[in-house]
Amino acid sequence: MMKMTVLASGSKGNSTLVSSGRTRILVDAGLSCRELLNRMRAAGEDPEALTAVLISHEHLDHINGLSVLARKLRIPVYFTEPTHRAWARMMNPRTTMSYAKWMEMRRLEMEAKAQTPSLYPDSAGGDPDALPDLAEALQEDSSTSEGSAAVGSDGSPMEGSLDDLSSVSRETPVASGRPRKAPAEPASLPAVEYFQAGSPFCIGDIAINPYTIPHDAADPVGFVFEAEGMRVAIATDLGYMPQNVRLALRRCDVLMIESNHDLEMLRDGPYPWSVKQRVLSRVGHLSNNATAEFLSGEYDGTATYIVLAHLSERNNLPELARLSAESALQGRASLLGNRVLLARQDAALEPICL
Ligand SMILES: [Zn+2]
Ligand SMILES: [Zn+2]
Repeated sequence: MMKMTVLASGSKGNSTLVSSGRTRILVDAGLSCRELLNRMRAAGEDPEALTAVLISHEHLDHINGLSVLARKLRIPVYFTEPTHRAWARMMNPRTTMSYAKWMEMRRLEMEAKAQTPSLYPDSAGGDPDALPDLAEALQEDSSTSEGSAAVGSDGSPMEGSLDDLSSVSRETPVASGRPRKAPAEPASLPAVEYFQAGSPFCIGDIAINPYTIPHDAADPVGFVFEAEGMRVAIATDLGYMPQNVRLALRRCDVLMIESNHDLEMLRDGPYPWSVKQRVLSRVGHLSNNATAEFLSGEYDGTATYIVLAHLSERNNLPELARLSAESALQGRASLLGNRVLLARQDAALEPICL
Protein backbone atom coordinates (compact mmCIF):
# COMPACT_ATOMS: atom_id res chain seq x y z
CA MET A 1 0.00 0.00 0.00
CA MET A 2 1.17 3.50 -0.74
CA LYS A 3 0.15 6.31 1.54
CA MET A 4 0.39 10.10 1.45
CA THR A 5 -0.22 12.33 4.45
CA VAL A 6 -0.05 16.08 3.92
CA LEU A 7 1.07 17.36 7.31
CA ALA A 8 1.01 21.03 6.32
CA SER A 9 0.92 23.14 3.19
CA GLY A 10 1.23 26.89 2.70
CA SER A 11 3.63 29.78 3.10
CA LYS A 12 4.03 29.09 6.83
CA GLY A 13 5.30 25.55 6.35
CA ASN A 14 5.16 22.54 4.04
CA SER A 15 5.64 18.89 4.85
CA THR A 16 4.20 15.67 3.43
CA LEU A 17 4.78 12.06 4.37
CA VAL A 18 4.96 9.53 1.54
CA SER A 19 5.21 5.89 2.51
CA SER A 20 5.14 2.37 1.16
CA GLY A 21 4.92 -0.81 3.21
CA ARG A 22 8.48 -0.46 4.48
CA THR A 23 9.77 3.03 3.57
CA ARG A 24 8.65 6.36 5.00
CA ILE A 25 9.87 9.60 3.44
CA LEU A 26 9.18 13.06 4.81
CA VAL A 27 9.09 15.50 1.90
CA ASP A 28 10.21 18.89 3.24
CA ALA A 29 10.25 19.88 6.90
CA GLY A 30 8.81 23.37 6.91
CA LEU A 31 7.24 23.38 10.38
CA SER A 32 9.16 23.41 13.66
CA CYS A 33 10.44 20.01 14.71
CA ARG A 34 7.98 19.88 17.57
CA GLU A 35 5.01 20.63 15.35
CA LEU A 36 6.13 18.08 12.76
CA LEU A 37 6.34 15.41 15.44
CA ASN A 38 2.94 16.37 16.84
CA ARG A 39 1.27 16.23 13.45
CA MET A 40 2.86 12.91 12.55
CA ARG A 41 1.66 11.37 15.78
CA ALA A 42 -1.81 12.90 15.38
CA ALA A 43 -1.97 11.31 11.92
CA GLY A 44 -1.07 7.93 13.40
CA GLU A 45 2.49 7.95 12.03
CA ASP A 46 5.46 7.01 14.18
CA PRO A 47 8.24 9.60 13.67
CA GLU A 48 10.82 7.03 14.79
CA ALA A 49 9.89 4.95 11.75
CA LEU A 50 10.90 7.66 9.25
CA THR A 51 13.49 6.50 6.70
CA ALA A 52 14.69 9.85 5.37
CA VAL A 53 13.86 13.50 4.71
CA LEU A 54 13.78 14.75 1.14
CA ILE A 55 14.09 18.47 0.43
CA SER A 56 12.56 20.23 -2.59
CA HIS A 57 14.27 23.60 -2.14
CA GLU A 58 15.80 25.78 0.55
CA HIS A 59 13.01 28.29 1.20
CA LEU A 60 12.23 28.59 4.89
CA ASP A 61 8.69 27.23 4.52
CA HIS A 62 10.26 23.93 3.38
CA ILE A 63 13.21 23.59 5.77
CA ASN A 64 12.26 25.28 9.02
CA GLY A 65 12.47 22.25 11.31
CA LEU A 66 14.87 20.23 9.18
CA SER A 67 18.12 20.23 11.12
CA VAL A 68 16.53 19.68 14.52
CA LEU A 69 14.29 16.90 13.23
CA ALA A 70 17.00 15.07 11.30
CA ARG A 71 19.35 15.17 14.28
CA LYS A 72 16.66 14.08 16.69
CA LEU A 73 15.59 11.11 14.57
CA ARG A 74 19.12 10.44 13.23
CA ILE A 75 17.97 10.05 9.65
CA PRO A 76 19.61 11.06 6.38
CA VAL A 77 18.57 14.12 4.41
CA TYR A 78 18.42 14.08 0.60
CA PHE A 79 19.12 17.30 -1.28
CA THR A 80 20.44 18.33 -4.64
CA GLU A 81 23.96 19.64 -4.14
CA PRO A 82 23.13 23.29 -4.95
CA THR A 83 20.16 23.17 -2.55
CA HIS A 84 22.33 21.71 0.20
CA ARG A 85 24.92 24.43 -0.31
CA ALA A 86 22.29 27.18 -0.28
CA TRP A 87 20.74 25.71 2.85
CA ALA A 88 24.11 25.44 4.60
CA ARG A 89 24.86 29.07 3.73
CA MET A 90 21.54 30.11 5.24
CA MET A 91 22.21 28.15 8.40
CA ASN A 92 25.83 29.22 8.68
CA PRO A 93 26.03 32.79 7.41
CA ARG A 94 29.37 33.35 9.12
CA THR A 95 31.08 31.39 6.37
CA THR A 96 30.71 34.46 4.20
CA MET A 97 31.52 36.89 7.00
CA SER A 98 34.75 38.79 7.44
CA TYR A 99 36.70 38.12 10.62
CA ALA A 100 36.11 41.66 11.84
CA LYS A 101 32.37 41.28 11.37
CA TRP A 102 32.42 37.93 13.12
CA MET A 103 34.26 39.45 16.11
CA GLU A 104 31.71 42.25 16.27
CA MET A 105 28.89 39.72 16.22
CA ARG A 106 30.54 37.73 18.97
CA ARG A 107 30.72 40.87 21.10
CA LEU A 108 27.04 41.68 20.50
CA GLU A 109 26.17 38.10 21.18
CA MET A 110 27.86 38.19 24.58
CA GLU A 111 26.07 41.42 25.41
CA ALA A 112 22.75 39.94 24.42
CA LYS A 113 23.49 36.89 26.46
CA ALA A 114 24.22 38.93 29.52
CA GLN A 115 20.97 40.83 29.08
CA THR A 116 18.65 37.93 28.27
CA PRO A 117 19.92 34.86 30.08
CA SER A 118 16.60 33.07 29.58
CA LEU A 119 17.43 32.65 25.90
CA TYR A 120 20.46 30.61 26.83
CA PRO A 121 19.43 27.92 29.27
CA ASP A 122 22.30 26.08 30.92
CA SER A 123 20.86 22.72 29.96
CA ALA A 124 21.14 23.52 26.27
CA GLY A 125 24.78 22.57 25.85
CA GLY A 126 25.37 19.60 23.61
CA ASP A 127 21.76 18.60 23.32
CA PRO A 128 20.43 19.56 19.94
CA ASP A 129 16.88 19.00 21.10
CA ALA A 130 17.21 21.56 23.81
CA LEU A 131 18.60 24.17 21.45
CA PRO A 132 16.19 26.65 20.04
CA ASP A 133 15.06 25.57 16.61
CA LEU A 134 17.26 27.91 14.63
CA ALA A 135 14.95 28.45 11.75
CA GLU A 136 11.98 28.75 14.01
CA ALA A 137 13.72 31.32 16.10
CA LEU A 138 14.78 33.03 12.92
CA GLN A 139 11.23 33.14 11.77
CA GLU A 140 10.02 34.60 15.01
CA ASP A 141 12.76 37.16 14.98
CA SER A 142 12.04 38.40 11.53
CA SER A 143 8.24 38.55 11.90
CA THR A 144 6.87 36.10 9.46
CA SER A 145 3.69 37.63 8.25
CA GLU A 146 3.31 36.91 4.57
CA GLY A 147 4.91 39.59 2.50
CA SER A 148 6.66 41.31 5.37
CA ALA A 149 9.90 43.06 4.66
CA ALA A 150 12.08 40.35 6.14
CA VAL A 151 10.41 37.28 4.68
CA GLY A 152 9.52 36.40 1.14
CA SER A 153 5.99 35.68 0.10
CA ASP A 154 6.38 31.99 0.64
CA GLY A 155 8.36 32.39 3.81
CA SER A 156 11.78 32.55 2.28
CA PRO A 157 14.17 34.62 4.32
CA MET A 158 15.54 37.76 2.80
CA GLU A 159 19.10 38.81 3.35
CA GLY A 160 19.75 40.55 6.60
CA SER A 161 17.29 38.58 8.66
CA LEU A 162 19.68 35.67 9.03
CA ASP A 163 22.61 37.30 10.71
CA ASP A 164 20.63 38.22 13.80
CA LEU A 165 19.63 34.67 14.49
CA SER A 166 22.86 32.98 13.74
CA SER A 167 24.11 34.24 17.05
CA VAL A 168 21.55 32.18 18.92
CA SER A 169 23.14 28.98 17.77
CA ARG A 170 26.67 30.08 18.38
CA GLU A 171 26.44 30.31 22.09
CA THR A 172 29.63 29.24 23.82
CA PRO A 173 30.07 28.89 27.54
CA VAL A 174 31.96 31.79 28.96
CA ALA A 175 29.93 33.15 31.81
CA SER A 176 29.19 29.90 33.55
CA GLY A 177 32.86 28.92 33.83
CA ARG A 178 32.20 25.21 33.58
CA PRO A 179 32.99 23.21 30.48
CA ARG A 180 30.17 22.11 28.24
CA LYS A 181 29.97 20.38 24.93
CA ALA A 182 29.65 22.83 22.07
CA PRO A 183 26.15 22.93 20.64
CA ALA A 184 25.61 21.26 17.29
CA GLU A 185 26.47 23.33 14.25
CA PRO A 186 23.22 24.60 12.78
CA ALA A 187 23.99 22.95 9.43
CA SER A 188 25.17 19.63 10.84
CA LEU A 189 23.08 16.63 9.84
CA PRO A 190 23.40 12.91 10.62
CA ALA A 191 23.93 12.14 6.91
CA VAL A 192 23.51 13.97 3.63
CA GLU A 193 22.73 12.26 0.32
CA TYR A 194 22.73 14.03 -3.02
CA PHE A 195 20.41 13.47 -5.94
CA GLN A 196 20.04 15.29 -9.25
CA ALA A 197 16.96 16.63 -10.98
CA GLY A 198 16.15 14.36 -13.90
CA SER A 199 17.96 11.35 -12.42
CA PRO A 200 15.62 8.84 -10.77
CA PHE A 201 16.83 7.15 -7.59
CA CYS A 202 15.44 4.98 -4.80
CA ILE A 203 15.00 5.29 -1.08
CA GLY A 204 14.13 1.84 0.23
CA ASP A 205 11.42 0.46 -2.05
CA ILE A 206 10.18 3.87 -3.24
CA ALA A 207 11.44 5.04 -6.64
CA ILE A 208 11.74 8.81 -6.89
CA ASN A 209 11.81 10.93 -10.00
CA PRO A 210 12.93 14.48 -9.14
CA TYR A 211 12.15 17.03 -11.84
CA THR A 212 13.21 20.66 -12.19
CA ILE A 213 10.60 23.31 -11.41
CA PRO A 214 10.72 27.01 -12.31
CA HIS A 215 11.02 28.76 -8.92
CA ASP A 216 13.35 31.35 -7.38
CA ALA A 217 15.56 29.00 -5.37
CA ALA A 218 19.02 27.49 -5.99
CA ASP A 219 17.92 24.22 -7.63
CA PRO A 220 14.23 23.59 -6.90
CA VAL A 221 12.59 20.26 -7.73
CA GLY A 222 9.23 18.52 -7.65
CA PHE A 223 8.91 14.78 -7.11
CA VAL A 224 7.09 11.75 -8.44
CA PHE A 225 7.12 8.73 -6.11
CA GLU A 226 6.45 5.24 -7.31
CA ALA A 227 5.96 2.05 -5.30
CA GLU A 228 3.82 -1.03 -5.62
CA GLY A 229 2.52 0.14 -8.99
CA MET A 230 1.22 3.45 -7.63
CA ARG A 231 2.42 6.93 -8.53
CA VAL A 232 2.20 10.00 -6.31
CA ALA A 233 3.31 13.43 -7.55
CA ILE A 234 4.11 16.65 -5.71
CA ALA A 235 4.19 19.83 -7.77
CA THR A 236 4.24 23.01 -5.68
CA ASP A 237 6.30 26.20 -5.81
CA LEU A 238 6.44 26.74 -9.54
CA GLY A 239 5.86 29.86 -11.57
CA TYR A 240 4.37 28.07 -14.57
CA MET A 241 4.01 24.57 -16.00
CA PRO A 242 6.89 23.89 -18.37
CA GLN A 243 6.90 20.84 -20.60
CA ASN A 244 9.13 18.74 -18.34
CA VAL A 245 6.67 19.18 -15.46
CA ARG A 246 3.65 18.33 -17.65
CA LEU A 247 5.42 15.15 -18.73
CA ALA A 248 6.43 14.21 -15.18
CA LEU A 249 2.83 14.48 -13.97
CA ARG A 250 1.43 11.84 -16.34
CA ARG A 251 -0.16 8.63 -15.05
CA CYS A 252 -0.33 9.71 -11.42
CA ASP A 253 -2.69 8.18 -8.85
CA VAL A 254 -2.34 11.17 -6.55
CA LEU A 255 -1.52 14.63 -7.87
CA MET A 256 -0.64 17.25 -5.29
CA ILE A 257 -0.54 20.49 -7.22
CA GLU A 258 -0.17 24.10 -6.18
CA SER A 259 -3.15 26.44 -6.37
CA ASN A 260 -1.49 29.36 -4.68
CA HIS A 261 -3.50 32.48 -5.33
CA ASP A 262 -6.54 34.01 -6.89
CA LEU A 263 -5.33 36.58 -9.38
CA GLU A 264 -7.80 39.27 -8.33
CA MET A 265 -7.20 38.76 -4.63
CA LEU A 266 -3.46 38.99 -5.19
CA ARG A 267 -3.83 42.08 -7.35
CA ASP A 268 -6.07 43.87 -4.83
CA GLY A 269 -4.43 42.40 -1.72
CA PRO A 270 -1.97 43.76 0.83
CA TYR A 271 1.34 42.60 -0.63
CA PRO A 272 3.84 45.24 -1.74
CA TRP A 273 4.05 45.53 -5.50
CA SER A 274 7.48 43.88 -5.65
CA VAL A 275 6.18 40.79 -3.83
CA LYS A 276 3.11 40.62 -6.08
CA GLN A 277 5.43 40.70 -9.06
CA ARG A 278 7.52 37.90 -7.60
CA VAL A 279 4.52 35.65 -6.90
CA LEU A 280 3.17 36.27 -10.40
CA SER A 281 6.51 35.77 -12.12
CA ARG A 282 7.72 32.74 -14.06
CA VAL A 283 9.62 31.68 -10.92
CA GLY A 284 6.82 32.38 -8.43
CA HIS A 285 3.67 30.36 -7.78
CA LEU A 286 0.78 28.87 -9.78
CA SER A 287 -2.52 30.76 -9.59
CA ASN A 288 -5.90 29.03 -9.40
CA ASN A 289 -6.28 29.92 -13.09
CA ALA A 290 -2.95 28.42 -14.09
CA THR A 291 -3.76 25.20 -12.25
CA ALA A 292 -7.23 25.07 -13.79
CA GLU A 293 -5.74 25.58 -17.22
CA PHE A 294 -3.49 22.56 -16.71
CA LEU A 295 -6.32 20.43 -15.27
CA SER A 296 -8.66 21.21 -18.16
CA GLY A 297 -5.92 20.85 -20.74
CA GLU A 298 -2.89 18.66 -20.77
CA TYR A 299 -3.59 16.78 -17.52
CA ASP A 300 -4.39 13.17 -18.41
CA GLY A 301 -7.12 12.67 -15.80
CA THR A 302 -5.63 9.57 -14.17
CA ALA A 303 -5.47 10.70 -10.53
CA THR A 304 -7.83 9.27 -7.97
CA TYR A 305 -7.12 12.30 -5.80
CA ILE A 306 -6.05 15.82 -6.66
CA VAL A 307 -4.70 17.73 -3.67
CA LEU A 308 -4.69 21.49 -4.09
CA ALA A 309 -1.71 22.79 -2.16
CA HIS A 310 0.32 25.82 -1.03
CA LEU A 311 -2.81 27.98 -0.89
CA SER A 312 -2.05 31.55 0.14
CA GLU A 313 -3.89 32.55 3.28
CA ARG A 314 -4.09 36.16 2.18
CA ASN A 315 -4.54 35.88 -1.56
CA ASN A 316 -6.81 32.89 -1.89
CA LEU A 317 -9.83 31.19 -0.39
CA PRO A 318 -10.08 27.41 -0.22
CA GLU A 319 -13.49 27.50 -1.89
CA LEU A 320 -12.21 29.63 -4.77
CA ALA A 321 -9.39 27.15 -5.38
CA ARG A 322 -11.77 24.20 -5.18
CA LEU A 323 -14.34 25.77 -7.49
CA SER A 324 -11.70 26.65 -10.02
CA ALA A 325 -10.23 23.13 -10.07
CA GLU A 326 -13.56 21.34 -10.03
CA SER A 327 -14.97 23.35 -12.88
CA ALA A 328 -11.76 22.75 -14.83
CA LEU A 329 -12.22 19.00 -14.32
CA GLN A 330 -15.91 18.99 -15.14
CA GLY A 331 -15.45 19.09 -18.85
CA ARG A 332 -13.69 15.76 -18.60
CA ALA A 333 -16.54 13.28 -18.83
CA SER A 334 -14.29 10.24 -18.73
CA LEU A 335 -12.99 11.05 -15.28
CA LEU A 336 -14.22 8.82 -12.50
CA GLY A 337 -11.70 9.74 -9.82
CA ASN A 338 -10.19 13.19 -9.46
CA ARG A 339 -11.62 13.85 -6.05
CA VAL A 340 -10.41 17.30 -5.10
CA LEU A 341 -8.92 17.75 -1.61
CA LEU A 342 -7.58 20.94 -0.08
CA ALA A 343 -4.29 20.81 1.80
CA ARG A 344 -4.27 22.86 4.96
CA GLN A 345 -1.79 25.04 6.77
CA ASP A 346 -3.13 24.54 10.27
CA ALA A 347 -3.68 20.77 10.34
CA ALA A 348 -2.76 17.54 8.61
CA LEU A 349 -5.08 16.00 6.04
CA GLU A 350 -6.48 12.53 6.50
CA PRO A 351 -3.96 10.08 5.06
CA ILE A 352 -4.63 9.15 1.43
CA CYS A 353 -4.26 5.40 1.03
CA LEU A 354 -3.81 3.72 -2.34
ZN1 LIG B 1 9.51 28.28 -2.41
ZN1 LIG C 1 6.92 27.13 -0.57
